[in-house]
Amino acid sequence: MTLTAAFERVSLPLAHPFGISRGTQTTAENVVVRVSDGERTGVGAAAPSTYYGETAATVEAVLPDLLDACEAVDDPHNLDGIDARLDAVVGDNPAAKAAVRIACCDLAAKRLDVPLYRLFGLDPGETITSSYTVGIDETDVMRERAEEAVDAGYAVLKTKVGTDRDEEILEAVRGAAPDARVRVDANAAWTPREAVEMSEVLAAYDVEFLEQPVSPANPDDLRYVYERSAVPIAADESCVTLPDVPRVADACDVVNVKLMKCGGPRQAVEMIHAARAHGLEVMLGCMIETNAAIAAACHLAPLLDYADLDGSLLLAEDPYEGVPLPDGRIDLSGVDAPGTGARAR
Ligand SMILES: [Mg+2]
Repeated sequence: MTLTAAFERVSLPLAHPFGISRGTQTTAENVVVRVSDGERTGVGAAAPSTYYGETAATVEAVLPDLLDACEAVDDPHNLDGIDARLDAVVGDNPAAKAAVRIACCDLAAKRLDVPLYRLFGLDPGETITSSYTVGIDETDVMRERAEEAVDAGYAVLKTKVGTDRDEEILEAVRGAAPDARVRVDANAAWTPREAVEMSEVLAAYDVEFLEQPVSPANPDDLRYVYERSAVPIAADESCVTLPDVPRVADACDVVNVKLMKCGGPRQAVEMIHAARAHGLEVMLGCMIETNAAIAAACHLAPLLDYADLDGSLLLAEDPYEGVPLPDGRIDLSGVDAPGTGARAR
């Protein structure tokens, strides 16, 4: 067999500007990767995050070496060998590696003529509902976005906070979505004391959990909040790769695993099992991503307690279709093609 690979950058305008505590973006730069065996082609994508040290340019800089390594293994079913070879030739760069590994998983499943969840031995009936994220904007705009999301059928919302008017935002989002499950993500914006105080407000608004209230710089800060918070705590920026799981195990209730942080679908599965071993609940999240990337994450839904896989829904248009998300429900039974189900529209 001869594997060949290629990549291309795609610039994806968002449906609305997307604000979090650290800033606002209007487009997402992703890099789509294809790995072919001459007959079938696996597709994946990188959604690099500058917060984790990656950009589309850094992804493009390391992809030639990663794809050479992938071609050198020359067996898309030897995912373990590909994983090891990628880590041997390039350090870090998890989004770039995730793109290659997603494409290889997609190709392997296509060659076996099964949906990706079958490759992982998962039951498509055991699926869950993704949240839909309301980014930081003017409070009235956030209220409208929450109303639109409810009208569109989404039953689980996540709202970004980390402003000087977070209580106002909560009142607006909860008011617009009185029956929804609501989660809150502060993206490390609060001090530990602010976070504990705000947790009382979140509890009053029946918030399901609080994601990353404080900076990951000092691990004691997250533990301080966890030990005093009125709502459960999820770790995102504090839990990036597998070795972080034991480090945050006594400082949170939930870990937010992302393929773009840990470097691929199989690495995400490792983190999920490690989290379970430490008695943690698991959420799978994403960046703002094309379905060429997110579709793979959706296939892990049967392993999750919570999903935040709405990255494609936030795009003005996605050049790829993926796993159907009717009302946010990750519909794996609706995947009618082998692999991840991602395909160009
Ligand atoms: Mg987060």
